[in-house]
Amino acid sequence: MTDGLKMSHVSHLFGENRVLRDISFDVAPGELVCLLGPSGCGKTTALRLAAGLEKLQVGAISVDDQIVAQPGGYVEPEKRGVGMVFQDYALFPHLNVAKNIGFGLRHFSETDRMNAIKAALEQVGMSDYLNAYPHELSGGQQQRIALARALAPKPRIMLLDEPFSGLDVARRADLRDTTLHVLKDAGIATVMVTHDPQEAMYMADRIIIMNEGQIMQDGSPETLYFRPENRFVASFFGEVNRFPGTVVDGKVATPFGDVDSQSIENGTEVEVLIRPEGLHIGEALNGHDVLAHVDAVRVLGEVNLVHLTLEAGAHIHARVPRRFSPINQPSVAITLDPDMAFVFPMT
Ligand code: ATP
Repeated sequence: MTDGLKMSHVSHLFGENRVLRDISFDVAPGELVCLLGPSGCGKTTALRLAAGLEKLQVGAISVDDQIVAQPGGYVEPEKRGVGMVFQDYALFPHLNVAKNIGFGLRHFSETDRMNAIKAALEQVGMSDYLNAYPHELSGGQQQRIALARALAPKPRIMLLDEPFSGLDVARRADLRDTTLHVLKDAGIATVMVTHDPQEAMYMADRIIIMNEGQIMQDGSPETLYFRPENRFVASFFGEVNRFPGTVVDGKVATPFGDVDSQSIENGTEVEVLIRPEGLHIGEALNGHDVLAHVDAVRVLGEVNLVHLTLEAGAHIHARVPRRFSPINQPSVAITLDPDMAFVFPMT
């Protein structure tokens, strides 16, 4: 028995274009899973298949252990217990808030419908807007109404497709928190599509990183960031420093010393990926230091990004706390945090 959403061995073709290749994942009640990947990797298609907006070609999809889609068998979208919120709100412009939310509750009695509308508005903090029209609301408020509309029929599954991407930074942060609270409180299994790694890290219990229709890794934000399984995942959370090398005695030499690579066969050509925060900057004190010239310091707010050139010629970048920033220092020593260095075979 698997409660929540289950996608099993789903593949999908648009004409000759194979957009999903044997995708399998589960989402438990109360869990929020982000599908994260570059544009065109198949995230929205996976969501549309789960919603029933696209006919399933290969595999199976179940909701609370009931198959809702398999080749030749299909449960209508409105009978799947699935709520959806998309990037562009998609509210009916000629209907007020109450009617927008009530639209999916036509089978309720009038009293039950009004109670459900009010409860959903309260969940998203919009109780005062029952009679407002969409054009009278800001983008963030419209998106709250879209969320209320999806919540009102009490879905078991929620599908969110880039729901915050049209909003400014402050509204986005606010609505993320509301959305998380509401969905967790209601114990809904949620899949959210995003191409923003920071948003996925913030929101998700689990992140599924996709590329070209395939799952590259499925795990907690911490696992994906600190124990990536391949180069694609390691470099998806931001630019990394890359150094080619060869495994010798279970280690790879880098300009900052040897990095452990026990699990890879000796003689294998590899690439060492080092996150910018894995390179620490200090004062150059003695002859053993790895020295670098400071080319530029970019102020990002909490941290600074420092562009450097190693004595041996390689360009690198380090992310350092503001107070350690080498402004006005021409030359610095670099040390490596080995937990932030990942070794992968070149192939
Ligand atoms: P984005 O982040 O840009 O929305 P995505 O990862 O959600 O991208 P999809 O929208 O699932 O990607 O699209 C995957 C591929 O399928 C793309 O190459 C897209 O052009 C193609 N595609 C999507 N929908 C259709 C369709 N209805 N007919 C034909 N091709 C389609």
